[in-house]
Amino acid sequence: MQQQEQAEVAGRSVEVRARERQGSTLLEDASAQFRAAAAHLGLDPGLQQVLETPEREMSVALPIEMDDGRIAVFQGYRVQHSRLRGPAKGGIRYHPSVDLDEVRGLAALMTWKCSLLDLPYGGGKGGVNCDPSLLSAGELARITRAYATAMLPIIGSRVDVPAPDVNTDEQVMAWFLDAVETQTGVFDPAVVTGKPLALGGIPGRGEATGRGVALITMEMLKRRGIALEDARIAVQGFGKVGGHTVRTLADAGCRIVAISDVSGGLYNPKGLDIPRIVAHTRNHPRGLLEGYPGEDAEPIGAAELLTVDCDVVIPAALEGQITTANAGDIRAPIIVEAANGPTTGEADRILEDRGITVVPDILANAGGVVVSYFEWIQGLQGTKWTLEDVRARLDRMMLDAFEAVIQRAEAEDVSLRLAAYLIAVGRVAETAALRRTAGA
Ligand code: NAD
Repeated sequence: MQQQEQAEVAGRSVEVRARERQGSTLLEDASAQFRAAAAHLGLDPGLQQVLETPEREMSVALPIEMDDGRIAVFQGYRVQHSRLRGPAKGGIRYHPSVDLDEVRGLAALMTWKCSLLDLPYGGGKGGVNCDPSLLSAGELARITRAYATAMLPIIGSRVDVPAPDVNTDEQVMAWFLDAVETQTGVFDPAVVTGKPLALGGIPGRGEATGRGVALITMEMLKRRGIALEDARIAVQGFGKVGGHTVRTLADAGCRIVAISDVSGGLYNPKGLDIPRIVAHTRNHPRGLLEGYPGEDAEPIGAAELLTVDCDVVIPAALEGQITTANAGDIRAPIIVEAANGPTTGEADRILEDRGITVVPDILANAGGVVVSYFEWIQGLQGTKWTLEDVRARLDRMMLDAFEAVIQRAEAEDVSLRLAAYLIAVGRVAETAALRRTAGA
């Protein structure tokens, strides 16, 4: 099968079809969350429109020479949702589900996340519609260089600063940086974050999102009076975020009862052997769980994982995983959203009615952008941070944001999600008013 056809087949992946069936998209849900906060804050309708409308969008066709000599065209996107509080900030995703609406929704989430953590950033996101599992390293490098070159007019360390997201990593950021610096002739390490250490990266960036998710999870457990060694946790997704979340929680003594990735899942109600599983994925050519010898774990499906009997469910894969189809079956009293937009709006209402506490994505997974911010400062100043500096400041900022959200939720008797949006949207609205943006 030709590579492009394969990509199309992969593009009709389970999660994308599921999302289409729900008729609910990340963009609609992100907009609904914003509108709920805007209504609660009594924002002027003109200002609401300003804050909801993406500031700048770019769609590009990337013609790439494939290894077999064919030319294939990939579609790339970048959306700068807001730059009112600083340069747009947000990852680059390589996935068959990437389209303009998905990128718009993810860019809006970044605006609110950066604001909630009080970072001097707006929100952005980018992506290329492709399936990296079907591409060679050379093809990925050429796609990345072409994407970076096409984005040159709208990115920059004071304009828009990309970072890794689903299926992109330090190597992709290294290609991106090199393409930009080659084109401009200017050394500018702050143009992208999530770089390898040898190219101006920062210690602790790789673990940051998972560390933050684990920290917030442990705080929630503490608040509920559940001892770490008694906590049973299920994590969907075992990539950069899910992997570090699981390792940090397991190291802290929690029982990880279920994990999954795109190749399947593993379940053991007594707790999985995480060091052994990590060793297995390190030896797997694509870092997957598939083929894990089964004597200490039963196989479990991605959908089933979300409804196992446990204390905390952590979706850490893709959006639209907790839907009206499974929200009624979730047994955990706490959900910590490590992925962006894992819960659809309708599912969120069902969970709230059922008394399940959802720690929202814009709070729970903000650790990555916080450490990207440290890396950006490092790049702008030509300084070096130590891992101890990074961890101490990350932990403080995550806990402060968590406390602020808890207090706002209690003060206004609203969900943690609405409380987080009230803080985040309120800050951006204040900035817009000070700038005298239309409608403010
Ligand atoms: P990744 O590509 O490293 O990992 C994604 C993981 O999800 C992989 O283990 C993959 O196998 C798994 N997966 C894919 N489809 C699945 C399915 N249907 N069922 C179960 N597992 C599935 O990506 P990542 O960087 O870990 O990102 C995961 C989520 O976290 C995304 O929503 C991303 O936007 C969000 N996020 C990432 C960062 C970051 O710093 N990387 C920061 C904030 C939020």
